[in-house]
Amino acid sequence: MSSNDKKPVVVIGGGIMGLSAAIWLLRSGRAVTLIDPGIARRPASFGNAGVLAACSVVPVTAPGLIAKIPMLLLDPNSPLFVRWSYLPKLAPWLVRYLKHANAADTARISKGLAQLTRDTYAQHKALAGGTPAERWLQSSGYFFAYRSRAAFEADAFAWQLRREAGFIWQEFEGAALRDVDPALGSKVGLGILVKDHGFVLSPGGYVADLREVAASLGASALAAEARAFRFEADGALQAVVTTDGEIETDAAVVATGAWSKMLTAQLGLNVPLESERGYHVMLYGASLKPRQPTSVISGKFVATPMADGVRCAGIVEFGGLDLPPHKPPIELMLRQVKDAFPALTFTHYDEWLGHRPAPSDSLPLIGEVPRHRGIFLAFGHHHVGLTTGPKTGRLLAALVNGETPELDMTPYTPARFAA
Ligand SMILES: Cc1cc2nc3c(=O)[nH]c(=O)nc-3n(C[C@H](O)[C@H](O)[C@H](O)COP(=O)(O)OP(=O)(O)OC[C@H]3O[C@@H](n4cnc5c(N)ncnc54)[C@H](O)[C@@H]3O)c2cc1C
Repeated sequence: MSSNDKKPVVVIGGGIMGLSAAIWLLRSGRAVTLIDPGIARRPASFGNAGVLAACSVVPVTAPGLIAKIPMLLLDPNSPLFVRWSYLPKLAPWLVRYLKHANAADTARISKGLAQLTRDTYAQHKALAGGTPAERWLQSSGYFFAYRSRAAFEADAFAWQLRREAGFIWQEFEGAALRDVDPALGSKVGLGILVKDHGFVLSPGGYVADLREVAASLGASALAAEARAFRFEADGALQAVVTTDGEIETDAAVVATGAWSKMLTAQLGLNVPLESERGYHVMLYGASLKPRQPTSVISGKFVATPMADGVRCAGIVEFGGLDLPPHKPPIELMLRQVKDAFPALTFTHYDEWLGHRPAPSDSLPLIGEVPRHRGIFLAFGHHHVGLTTGPKTGRLLAALVNGETPELDMTPYTPARFAA
């Protein structure tokens, strides 16, 4: 049977993961049906900070995190928030998550992440090059704004991991710091510039264009939710059950981000998955823009010079998928923007809450489900899903086509969560 005679691959989820997988599958000659209820949810791929963060290879669960938690929770200027009513539901996941806050696990996770992040800009160019989506890609450095050298030195473990992953950087202090970016205020005492990064000038515009690219390559789109699967007697996939009927297929990709648990629970997997909630404020009519994406370390957010203004996005909040947004993270981010860029004024802003898909071991799930032939997973990329989407999509397309990727896929195997 030629690839054209095969049934369409059903890609569930139209964020950066689903779209990247769909485009690479289409380019390999496969037909694709893309299912997503629509962007009303304004998913993570729409509202993120836009950074193609090649050097983001250090998970949140770095050594020392557990000792810092009481201080982080008590300090009103800390970028970690917990919605206390959600704590009983969060607790089992949190215990597993914090178990990884040691040097050996962090180094192992870092290697797994680096394989996916390091060539991000080239991967985005390969995905979007020659299409209308390419206009949103911008090469740049990635800047880290610290309050002081002492604050930078407190992150020494993370920078050591970046060094081991092959990244080099320049340090700036005093007048040299203002030369790198005159927008920085005096509360920034030390800056680190890592070259050879990039960013997306409008993540929403980018995914909208990628949807069009998929359509132009022949993808059919269904505005529906996938609810379940139907299987052959031997466990092989037979159909995807959606809110708009069943689609017969023998291959499906689950790329449903932080919402993936409902589907994976039906596949013999027990994935410890949470939403690591994050926020953005999009500042319109901005009087100035940072020269490049700038990570404001004390606030755990990134200020990115986007097409429409300055987007500040980040923060970590635990509160599940259903609780509404609340104000303290937004207020904190606006205070910290003022500290880092005191001359920045803006006419108005809008706010957004999004859900990073967060498996407890900080590594994504990429690969075929062990018990059900034909179902492939592509979710759980935490803070680096935009960065790693195109490469994940390419790997996924190879796996669906029965090829063996050159990359070591063991860190991402779904089998690690077999129930
Ligand atoms: C504040 C913030 C800042 C961030 N900044 C960055 C950054 O600068 N760089 C970076 O690399 N990453 C960043 N991220 C992370 C990144 O945005 C995510 O990792 C990535 O977007 C996840 O993509 P996804 O396609 O897996 O999920 P999503 O973008 O969430 O998409 C999932 C899609 O699945 C659909 N869906 C869900 N359930 C179903 C179902 N049952 N049937 C059909 N469809 C379904 C949803 O409607 C949605 O469209 C940030 C995240 C946040 C929250």
